[in-house]
Amino acid sequence: MKWEENIRRVVPYVAGEQPNKPNMIKLNTNECPYPPAPGVAKLASEMDSNALRLYPDPNTTPLVKALAEYYHVRQEQVFVGVGSDDVLSMAFLTFFNSDKPILFPDVTYSFYDVWADLYRIPYKTCALDENWHIRPEDYGQPNGGVIFPNPNAPTGVFESLKTVEEIVRENRDVVVIVDEAYVDFGGESALSLLDKYDNLLIVQTFSKSRSMAGLRIGFCIGNEKLLGYLNDVKFSINSYTMNLPAQLLGVEAVRDDSYFKSVTAKIAATRERVKGELKELGFSFPDSKANFIFASHGTIPAEQIFLALREADIYVRYWNKPRISNCLRITVGTDGQMDKLIGFLSEYVVKHH
Ligand SMILES: *Cc1c(COP(=O)(O)O)cnc(C)c1O
Repeated sequence: MKWEENIRRVVPYVAGEQPNKPNMIKLNTNECPYPPAPGVAKLASEMDSNALRLYPDPNTTPLVKALAEYYHVRQEQVFVGVGSDDVLSMAFLTFFNSDKPILFPDVTYSFYDVWADLYRIPYKTCALDENWHIRPEDYGQPNGGVIFPNPNAPTGVFESLKTVEEIVRENRDVVVIVDEAYVDFGGESALSLLDKYDNLLIVQTFSKSRSMAGLRIGFCIGNEKLLGYLNDVKFSINSYTMNLPAQLLGVEAVRDDSYFKSVTAKIAATRERVKGELKELGFSFPDSKANFIFASHGTIPAEQIFLALREADIYVRYWNKPRISNCLRITVGTDGQMDKLIGFLSEYVVKHH
């Protein structure tokens, strides 16, 4: 059809499946297995539905304020969006507007190339080394911006702040985005670099470490001038991105720091325990600082294990893509869930050896 010639065609991002079976073990989209902070449930039950008549605060002031206090930055340095996917997409549109390609790792969050294609941003990928680490020297080539997650997804590999700073320092004429979706599980945030670098944008989310994937809250922190440009783009698309319940409930999650710390510590402890057990079963993986483990088995193909797990209603993530087609990304769930996973794998490995 003639009209198809003028359509903006894209190949969309494919999210992990969201099955809903009573006894399933869902370890495929890096959600948190524990509930949000108790204050969230309390406030949700007390909410006044009459307040929904009005538009929400377009600046999400209470949530911005809570985050600014928590991270010891000025309110003008905080921007909140509908999940970090919303923040990242808006940041791509705002900051990546050069004829030179933006740079990101070859194995990374698979939304980056989708946004680049959607917004017609040229891009180039830089191969991770054989241990899944970034080679900082790759990011010294001419570019229109840089983005990478730290820890990286789906590998879980954490790059030291020294490496992050090297990349930010070598790219002072472009914006460098560090996607810290998983930093709360044992990495170190680049927030401490913000005073030194006005080209650094740090993106985080409530979806993983704050158990609120269903509410859709993400945010970024950076230089005030940078955020001014980001707000100009946001307010040119939709003033009211953040709905009222999300704004209010998000504040409750930020307030309860001891709950947040205990949940993230618990996930990290389970992760370390499961690493040992997977090793004993013949799996290998890069050392993860995230809430997932990126594992390959010595003899059994990943796809085969993925399908067998799925049959047993245990969902993990598998991609039939270059370099990673023999890897499974396994989200760290509760200890009970991980016991069931390990129990299944122990029998499976013996049978298929
Ligand atoms: C999960 C994830 C996000 C997006 O999470 P939201 O739910 O949209 O906040 C962003 N980046 C990476 C690397 C992720 O894994």
